[in-house]
Amino acid sequence: MNAPSSPTELALIGHFINGQKLTGDGARNQPVYNPALGVPIAQVELASPATVNAAVEAAAAAFPAWSQTPPLKRARILFKYKELLERHHDDLAALITREHGKVLSDAHGEVVRGLEVVEFATGIPHLLRGEFTDQISTGIDAWSLRQPVGVCAGITPFNFPVMVPMWMFPLAIACGNTFVLKPSERDPSASLLLAELLQEAGLPDGVFNVVQGDKVAVDTLLHHPQVAALSFVGSTPIAQYIYETGARLGKRVQALGGAKNHLVVMPDADLDQAVDALIGAAYGSAGERCMAISVAVAVGSSAEALIARLKPRVRALKVLDGTNAAAEMGPVVTAQHRQRILDYIEHGIGEGAELVVDGRSVTVPGREQGFFLGGTLFDRVTPDMKIYREEIFGPVLCVVRVPDFKSAVELINAHEFGNGTSLFTQDGATAREFARHIQVGMVGINVPIPVPMAFHSFGGWKKSLFGDQHAYGMEGVRFYTRYKAVMQRWGNSIGKGAEFVMPTAK
Ligand code: NAD
Repeated sequence: MNAPSSPTELALIGHFINGQKLTGDGARNQPVYNPALGVPIAQVELASPATVNAAVEAAAAAFPAWSQTPPLKRARILFKYKELLERHHDDLAALITREHGKVLSDAHGEVVRGLEVVEFATGIPHLLRGEFTDQISTGIDAWSLRQPVGVCAGITPFNFPVMVPMWMFPLAIACGNTFVLKPSERDPSASLLLAELLQEAGLPDGVFNVVQGDKVAVDTLLHHPQVAALSFVGSTPIAQYIYETGARLGKRVQALGGAKNHLVVMPDADLDQAVDALIGAAYGSAGERCMAISVAVAVGSSAEALIARLKPRVRALKVLDGTNAAAEMGPVVTAQHRQRILDYIEHGIGEGAELVVDGRSVTVPGREQGFFLGGTLFDRVTPDMKIYREEIFGPVLCVVRVPDFKSAVELINAHEFGNGTSLFTQDGATAREFARHIQVGMVGINVPIPVPMAFHSFGGWKKSLFGDQHAYGMEGVRFYTRYKAVMQRWGNSIGKGAEFVMPTAK
């Protein structure tokens, strides 16, 4: 194992502004950890307001020319970008695993899901087509078009350092906007490679910028008069703060928040399929996914058999350094986050939930300082318990027993979060009822993690999303553009004299 380096020897991760990598504005720094080793591997510079202002000014200066660049030319840069991302797929995945900890194969999957948004965005000449009505009134034609909004900012969480930024910027810049990304300070390196590859693809300087930082950087973006739109993904309290502040300042905001995703197991479900689904969806990426399943709802007679099958599978999870090809689950992101999860487990025991599998004492040989936890399984969890109500964001699955399908739907609909949910059944009518009545933004039927593909859109309901538009897909195109309606007439059809009545079709 690497010996911990002294903070002064560590490389400094900085910003990317106006086509330049920058460090050293005298701002504060913070260590970046390799969670599997449990040691700092770099320092990240936390941008001062002056650095953030420089990035916004670069983006504002680049906007006039970029917004006037024909969509086809913008698309051609994205085609080139797609090729470069494919070529650097392994590098991006390695950076993700190094700073986030997730297993390498999962990191590869994350890169692919980001790339798919670039693929969607290359269709921008088609996606931006407006609508036209010939002769909407005598001698008059009308059409509508969508135009870019200006400088857009993206503020992203630690758990998908490549995919979540790519939910935002490929489409924002394809639409003709310029962009400032503020990635998570816990895994900042991938954002710089994403920026360098955009530059290599031919993106003009200033169109895409990265500022590293914390609340200071976020607040500077939030209050900057030249930032027209903000896309946020992270925890619910911060999402709500960003939405409320941005909206008050007249900005367009989409703010995606936290989650508590339920997977319902009906008595008629194929139990092998349901158990496989639960193991992958609850413990994949150590439960640090906003679409992770954290609650299994066992309906009627399904509970005993479900617990009996889950128990050995949770115990057998291969918890290892994410670079180990055999790993099924890596560490969690920081020592503080690990402690937070341990506190939730204590709470669950204190509140009377039945601890079926206890992952607290799992260690990984050779990685004793790493931020590892084993899979934990609770049975007989009830809706009043803290471990049911709050997002744990770790490898902890809670089983709630309910008597029937109606109670399962009521349980889910009563929860304050509404990001994703899933139903395992063999009955089409039950599935149809579920999809129609559930108060959740993304629904899977025999699909545990129903993250929409790039040509649909991603977003939850209730406290999982603040704002009107979901991320990427056509919702993303609408978010990153303003609608304009035009009417024109020419020549002899232009009337003579003032008209004082409300114009109607003639
Ligand atoms: P977080 O809310 O702590 O941080 C997200 C971003 O906000 C980071 O860039 C961070 O620097 C910034 N930030 C943190 N505190 C701030 C403050 N007080 N003021 C202004 N900005 C602040 O979230 P996280 O721990 O990085 O990520 C995990 C959370 O993200 C979970 O709640 C998870 O459910 C959520 N998430 C949601 C989705 C979704 O699509 N709904 C996707 C991924 C993650």
